[in-house]
Amino acid sequence: PVRVRFAPSPTGMFHVGGARSALYNWAVARQRGGTFVLRIEDTDAARNQPEWIDGIINALAAIGIHKDDATFEGPYFQSQNADRHRAAAAQLLAGGHAYYCDCTREQLNARTGSEQLGYDGFCRERGLEYAEGRALRFRTPDEGETVVVDLIRGEPAFPNAAIEDFVIARGDGSPVFLLANVVDDLDEGITEVIRGEEHLSNTPKQQLLWQALGATAPVWAHLPVIVNEKRQKLSKRRDKVALEDYLAEGFLPEAMVNYLMLLGWGPGDDVEIAPQAQLEQLFRVEDVNTSPAFFDVKKLTAFNGEYIRALSPADFTAACAPWLTAPHAPWEPAAFDQKLFETMAPLAQTRLAVLSEITANVDFLFLAEPVEDEASWNKAMKAGAAEVLRDARAAFATATWEAEELKAVLLAVGEQHGLKLGKAQAPVRVAVTGRTVGLPLFESLELLGRERVLARLDAASA
Ligand code: GLU
Repeated sequence: PVRVRFAPSPTGMFHVGGARSALYNWAVARQRGGTFVLRIEDTDAARNQPEWIDGIINALAAIGIHKDDATFEGPYFQSQNADRHRAAAAQLLAGGHAYYCDCTREQLNARTGSEQLGYDGFCRERGLEYAEGRALRFRTPDEGETVVVDLIRGEPAFPNAAIEDFVIARGDGSPVFLLANVVDDLDEGITEVIRGEEHLSNTPKQQLLWQALGATAPVWAHLPVIVNEKRQKLSKRRDKVALEDYLAEGFLPEAMVNYLMLLGWGPGDDVEIAPQAQLEQLFRVEDVNTSPAFFDVKKLTAFNGEYIRALSPADFTAACAPWLTAPHAPWEPAAFDQKLFETMAPLAQTRLAVLSEITANVDFLFLAEPVEDEASWNKAMKAGAAEVLRDARAAFATATWEAEELKAVLLAVGEQHGLKLGKAQAPVRVAVTGRTVGLPLFESLELLGRERVLARLDAASA
């Protein structure tokens, strides 16, 4: 059975590109009754932080990859396999596949006349012994080519003459990433390596290592790079890339999963919104695109809106809960009224793109006074607005307190001022909710109650 792996380096937040790799590997393991191995590539001790490992486990759980699932194996830690990495380096040396080298960068540059060229093989036949500071280099074949079997890209061929004798262990004896990564994959019985395109240039070297270690290389699949709207590679300096940030902003995990599954692949037949279990079965790594995948936040947001609307009322109110308390909610905790919120919630559910928007949509219900969104007030409180507010206040004072009725009343007030309903509504909305946009006005008024509405109209027209 197939064994795939996800091998993040714990160096910070969980990148959406990593999430996509994890989901694709997970799908392959699930649909073929295989195993998904989590391996933490934690050999860069200076950069690794233990809390990032929890971050990885939690982020995986958020996208439906649970460590107690039978498909899941690990986590393994690269740092704990260091003896095997060293043994592999020794094996390569003993087998004549590697040699020690004491060339400095300066010497190499002086010989080749260029910073750009790879290693020139100077130490190949010198037969140097190990000494502190001497790197161990892999002896790449001079002839032939290395053909990588890539499920997405066909069979790219790399001429061996163009692959330099690369370093496999540093001057202090510690094996480098290229080798550690291969040894771990070998030890963990990995049969398919599905990873980002940025590793494609490593692959011929790694395949040569597999062969030299006497093992059969896995099948590879290199996932297309993810780009932003300017077609630049998604980067943590430039773009919002952390899965955690999207979740914290109120993107639903299910929407993230759905969107990420489609980042470079599609199930066809115009299917877009589909549950994870179904996408997992439909996924074919062979059908992943080679061209860059555009991380379209607008489309993700649209997906999220669909997922929000599909929630049951109870699930929707539960999902909103984090945004109805500190630090997100600006109101006094005691002022919050769950019943009132639940009455209002269906109106919000059809309109939200991300859950965090709920706070601003309902704050007028729980704040003693509406927020003062300055742009809204300037826009709505033009000449004549105070008169509209006063007349509306007078009419509302005796109206039947029910949304349809309030609408009829304001329509009539507007007519007296030569205003269409929309124009008459604007100052009322701002006076009561603090903003020019929000949930349907008359339902909002009904829920807020006559007393508070009248007080806010008074305050705004004073
Ligand atoms: N640790 C590597 C990374 O995070 C993964 C390498 C691989 O998947 O082979 O990029």
